[in-house]
Amino acid sequence: MGIKLVVVGAAGRMGRRIIAMGMESGRFELAGAVDAASHPEAGKDAGVLAGVGALGVHVGADWPSGADVVIDFSLPQAADATMAWCASNTVPLVMGTTGLSDAHKASLQAAAKKTAVVYATNMSVGMNALFALVGKAAAMLGDAYDIEIIEQHHRFKKDAPSGSAITLAENICEATGRDVKTALVHGRGGVSPRKPGEIGMHAVRAGDITGIHSVMYGTLGEVVTLSHTAHSRDTFVQGALRAAEWLMDRGSGFYSMRDVLGIE
Ligand code: NAD
Repeated sequence: MGIKLVVVGAAGRMGRRIIAMGMESGRFELAGAVDAASHPEAGKDAGVLAGVGALGVHVGADWPSGADVVIDFSLPQAADATMAWCASNTVPLVMGTTGLSDAHKASLQAAAKKTAVVYATNMSVGMNALFALVGKAAAMLGDAYDIEIIEQHHRFKKDAPSGSAITLAENICEATGRDVKTALVHGRGGVSPRKPGEIGMHAVRAGDITGIHSVMYGTLGEVVTLSHTAHSRDTFVQGALRAAEWLMDRGSGFYSMRDVLGIE
């Protein structure tokens, strides 16, 4: 018997890969495939949709009666229902949906008092290493280096800047004593000369780019760039499944991918 998994956003790009790779791993069984009732694929077998053959679980708005873990890669408007279900059923949650509001994040913290929650705007191992590195680099290079964050994604991405770009900015701010609420300058236009300490944030949307995040540290005479390129969504899926398994041995609490991966 595998870990009983509920996938929220089951008919989406990430949801389908989570179901496919979860089933292929042999370590999970699908207990529920939640998606909006209005989704054109609602009612279809989630396994067929994911390309791994019929699993007898149909995509729809109904939640199952129980599960071992929930993985949510959907939209912020679905987050409240997911958090409420996980908290009231004491089922651990891997929350991968980005673009969550401060209110959503507060609810996630509240849910983490009842059950175990992993929240990460990016589940890839390489990206989490980058999260840890960018603050250290900023502190090492100092105030003489201007910092610009450039993120690139596919044309279908709804939120901007990406949740991962915001996490990069938060980590840089934490390491350098900046306030992320005032340090960010989103794009530039017209006459807008750079102010000391600001962090430029730029979101590119084109074609089918899976995800590229770069942090530039520029001073007079040189630029240092730290960058991560995701070649496939499967890197996020691997991380999400790893987080789901890791949660099986955890009590209630709010955890990050750095906890899951043991990155200092
Ligand atoms: P997508 O648009 O392909 O899929 C989203 C799915 O959510 C759709 O099937 C949609 O119908 C469904 N949905 C909408 N309302 C719903 C509701 N009320 N209940 C349940 N499901 C609902 O998007 P995607 O590319 O799969 O990405 C999904 C989310 O995951 C986005 O927020 C994206 O930014 C995020 N993401 C996170 C990571 C990470 O590592 N944390 C990686 C990739 C994508």
